Amino acid sequence: MQCDVCIIGGGLVGCSTALHLVRAGKSVVLVERDRIGAHASGANFGGVRRHGRNVLELPLSTRAFDIWRNMGTLVGNDCEFMPTGHLKIARSEAEMAVLEQWSSFGAEHGIPVVLHDRTSLRANFPWLNTSSFGASFCPGDGHANPRLAAPAFALRAGAEGAVVIQGDGATTVEDARDEFEVTLHSRRRIRAAVLVNAAGAWGRHFARYYGDEAPVEAVAPQMFVSEPVPYIIDAVLGMVTGGLYLRQIPRGNVIFGGGRGILDPNCHRSSPSDRVFAETVGLAGDLVPSLRDIAVIRSWTGVEGHCEDGLPILGPSPRRANLYHAFGFSGHGFQMAPAVGAVLSELIARGFSETDISALSPRRFTGAKSSILAESEI
Ligand SMILES: Cc1cc2nc3c(=O)[nH]c(=O)nc-3n(C[C@H](O)[C@H](O)[C@H](O)COP(=O)(O)OP(=O)(O)OC[C@H]3O[C@@H](n4cnc5c(N)ncnc54)[C@H](O)[C@@H]3O)c2cc1C
Repeated sequence: MQCDVCIIGGGLVGCSTALHLVRAGKSVVLVERDRIGAHASGANFGGVRRHGRNVLELPLSTRAFDIWRNMGTLVGNDCEFMPTGHLKIARSEAEMAVLEQWSSFGAEHGIPVVLHDRTSLRANFPWLNTSSFGASFCPGDGHANPRLAAPAFALRAGAEGAVVIQGDGATTVEDARDEFEVTLHSRRRIRAAVLVNAAGAWGRHFARYYGDEAPVEAVAPQMFVSEPVPYIIDAVLGMVTGGLYLRQIPRGNVIFGGGRGILDPNCHRSSPSDRVFAETVGLAGDLVPSLRDIAVIRSWTGVEGHCEDGLPILGPSPRRANLYHAFGFSGHGFQMAPAVGAVLSELIARGFSETDISALSPRRFTGAKSSILAESEI
């Protein structure tokens, strides 16, 4: 099979890239080892926030925000995006200082946030406990249904001409003159002028084929969903410490996450941890007292690529022309993936993008490290 661009990985990053590339006039083959959206892109919390992001991600995150607001127009499915706003809780004066500092970064990037002290927090979010020190609230951020997003992009890309292969993974990548030759498990071969490595937690493996090293490890964030209860939690909730993130859907179920589950030794699958279950359910009840006796009906995990500096590996390979990396999204990829596809398609089809992703370049691990602010929350 011959194409302009072969994409390895059918998570939201790969599917978004496929759609934007076919719209830019490229012939595209997307290869997914399992099912579309089967891994992090389908298992995640569904948080769509710019609030509290590392400033180096804000150009991409801001662009993604605009896409999320118009998702229905782009893919024919709004993916249940709800712009409820995102509330980040501080439990001490020191944590409040972190929120105040970020509110200045946000203002510089056109993202207004509202700071709340204990009294206004209580008045505006009466479902919260009374012991939180303060919070910041970012209107416009929100949540969406991760089960819908990657399939919606893949369906749209397929309808517009991309070839989407599922259940057949790439086993090797070789140079074939100026092109790439990707061999699949079934022994099918794909020749492409451009290769996009969107293999999520497994992207490091393909980067190494061309000597591109990236300190990305697989981790398994853990999630929970409760029985349906009356709808009261009308914002996505997070904490400065990152210990808990929580949202409620209109049907009443409360979806929340925190801590990390157990990875299989081969890092392909993961499973929930009982200890994390007890800790995170306890924390949810502390923060939102009405959840204290709630029945948690399911817990699950997903495998995510986490880079040591907490930023994705995104951009052209430093060593191989026409190879692009887009992996290791470190807990932030659901929100940003719609823009990742747009930016990669611009780089591939036009040679430049106005969205500044230079700080996310794979190059940062070939030389001196940049100084980067830590961000703990998914
Ligand atoms: C529990 C959890 C909660 C999260 N919460 C949030 C959140 O609230 N907000 C947010 O923005 N982000 C969140 N994230 C992070 C987000 O889900 C990821 O960053 C994002 O989905 C990454 O997308 P991806 O396409 O790079 O990876 P994936 O969805 O993992 O897709 C990569 C795909 O590559 C495929 N692949 C790998 N090797 C091969 C091969 N050899 N051949 C073919 N295919 C291959 C895999 O099968 C996989 O489907 C969370 C992640 C987890 C796990």
